[in-house]
Amino acid sequence: MKREPAPALAKKLAKLGLRSSQDLALHLPHRYEDETRLTAPELAPAGKPVLVEARLERAELAYRPKRQLVVHAEGLVLRFLNFYGSQLKALQRAAEEGLLVRAYGEVRPGFFGAEMVHPRYRVVPVGEPLAQALTPVYPTTAGLSQYALRKLVLEALDEALLEDTLPEPLRQRHALAGIAESIRALHRPAPDASTAELTERGGEAWRRVKFDELLAQQLSMRMAYRARRSRNALALPSSGPLLKRFLGKLPFRLTRAQSRAMAEILRDLAQPHPMQRLLQGDVGSGKTIVAAIGCLVAIDAGCQAAVLAPTEILAEQHLRKFSEWLGPLGVPIAWLHGGLTAAEKKAVLKRLQSPTPVLAIGTHALFQKKVAFSRLALAIVDEQHRFGVEQRLALRRKGEISSAETGSAQTPSRSTPPAPHQLMMSATPIPRTLSMSYFADLDVSTIDELPPGRRSVATRLAANGRRAEVLQRIREACAEGQQAYWVCPVIEESKTGELQTALDTFESLRLELKNLRVGLLHGRLPAAEKAQTMQAFSEGKIQLLVATTVIEVGVDVPNASLMVIEHAERFGLAQLHQLRGRIGRASGATARESVCILLYAAPLSASARARLRAIFETRDGFEIARQDLLQRGPGEVLGQRQSGVPLLRYADLEKDASLALEAREAARRLLDEEPQVARHHVERWLASRHENAQV
Ligand code: ADP
Ligand code: MG
Repeated sequence: MKREPAPALAKKLAKLGLRSSQDLALHLPHRYEDETRLTAPELAPAGKPVLVEARLERAELAYRPKRQLVVHAEGLVLRFLNFYGSQLKALQRAAEEGLLVRAYGEVRPGFFGAEMVHPRYRVVPVGEPLAQALTPVYPTTAGLSQYALRKLVLEALDEALLEDTLPEPLRQRHALAGIAESIRALHRPAPDASTAELTERGGEAWRRVKFDELLAQQLSMRMAYRARRSRNALALPSSGPLLKRFLGKLPFRLTRAQSRAMAEILRDLAQPHPMQRLLQGDVGSGKTIVAAIGCLVAIDAGCQAAVLAPTEILAEQHLRKFSEWLGPLGVPIAWLHGGLTAAEKKAVLKRLQSPTPVLAIGTHALFQKKVAFSRLALAIVDEQHRFGVEQRLALRRKGEISSAETGSAQTPSRSTPPAPHQLMMSATPIPRTLSMSYFADLDVSTIDELPPGRRSVATRLAANGRRAEVLQRIREACAEGQQAYWVCPVIEESKTGELQTALDTFESLRLELKNLRVGLLHGRLPAAEKAQTMQAFSEGKIQLLVATTVIEVGVDVPNASLMVIEHAERFGLAQLHQLRGRIGRASGATARESVCILLYAAPLSASARARLRAIFETRDGFEIARQDLLQRGPGEVLGQRQSGVPLLRYADLEKDASLALEAREAARRLLDEEPQVARHHVERWLASRHENAQV
């Protein structure tokens, strides 16, 4: 093996996140190969890689069907489509010398008998001893051979100082094996170790490694939480007149879960440290009013509050809701949106800069550079999972800068300026196992009940062919004064032409439903038009709203009780749940049963069938989230790469749920009792990876 020039090699290693011998030692195999035993080619089981050995007979080039290197050995043929000329020569020479070929891979029956395509192989003399232990296989990158990487890792393993970062009592409490012996056992498995167990990441050695990794993740997130928590914030007492008046004449009685969440938020706001709370609750559980109450506390204190929504439509709806609720109390509200003229925008910005209380509502445009708040005390982010890491970072920075600009009025200039309290809201319920890790740097309030009197939403599945029936239903519903959504998957004809466009659908529905007032809403409309359409729908002026998924999050029009989702098979499970959550929002005596009709085009793929079945059978958001997770995996569900949560390489939050719980316990204790040990541990595991954990 030629030694590579150091910089080129270092670059490849860096791609794998490997910078030190410590990193290399912690770069663990993702599987193992059993080269401790030989299998006779004709006895090799189908579909399972094995090690075979046979005496070489000849090697030659063949040109059918493609240029290839064919190696004939006794009872075995090897084929290579990519090869070097030197390989052919070496094999020919070895055949003449009567040497053997030892190859690892799957054996298949071929024209000449047992055959292997592109096996890993080695030429060996008769009697070459077999490996004593399983062969580790490492995740690698283009241009870095398994052989070279393995050599580097094993060298590093001998150099690396793998002292145990965890104190003895902690190890005992969680019955953990030593770290050095665990890591060594994974790189150089014992002769009797089981391939299956090691590859499945079972056994004591993997348990220790996974524990350490989970612990590091928990620690880094808790550390980020504590760092933020240690900052100053304005303490906002919940004794102001506006809050009192509003609580005295709420538009409805809060559910117990809403009251509990409210109490948790008010308690946090009264602290002189920034709140970092997530308010989660299924679609329709009533998070908005709780947010409004929080805003009142800030206004009562003479400060500013900001409510951010991921779409203009939702921001505009918040404007209407908040105006309806808080307007009568005289709360000044500013709306920052894309449809403002330059002069209007300037006026809004000026208002935010002036030291007067105001409630600002908008999309993330609220957090552009030009927008400076004079006294931002509370920032609320609705549907926060819809914002990317970048936006969330910008948000956090914004809060810090804007309060820095004026905080000096209150605080001595040298001390840290107060940071705004933060409330995140999300309707994507996350299974507990995941939320533990995902939200380790937040406090969580959960609204786990729906307002009373909600009629359930009936879900029906209908093949495309039953469109006429569906149209009839819409006529009937609208004749009774109800409203309906018709949801389409995309706004333009896709290449294959299979998907109907919202535009087409709108045109045809308008013709088919002549007596109805039909509206169209999609993401490419100008902001003002979107707002107008939404307004008209919420006032009942539009009866049927044809829309893309722009209405997926947050939209609340209680009188809409019918939803048709076209090409439902194209939507994700969480998306279907969110969409369906737009109906069934009315409560009280007048509330009618809502119906969600899922139109699908047969034939259905297995996964589409599974999704439709899940949405048909379940209404519980947590159950749906669990199914979604099973079907798509956590990375997809949470957008983990995006989330800023340190990625796990070895542990699996679902499979290792109980270990994750233990790690969380240990993290709490360690941070309290031995913070320097905690830091050291995080450095070892996340040194090169935890830049993101601060988001
Ligand atoms: P989400 O949690 O999905 O944001 P919303 O805050 O939009 O839900 O609330 C859904 C609907 O339920 C709204 O029309 C809201 O006014 C209404 N609502 C909220 N809380 C209650 C309650 N306690 N009793 C009756 N209706 C409520
Ligand atoms: Mg909402």
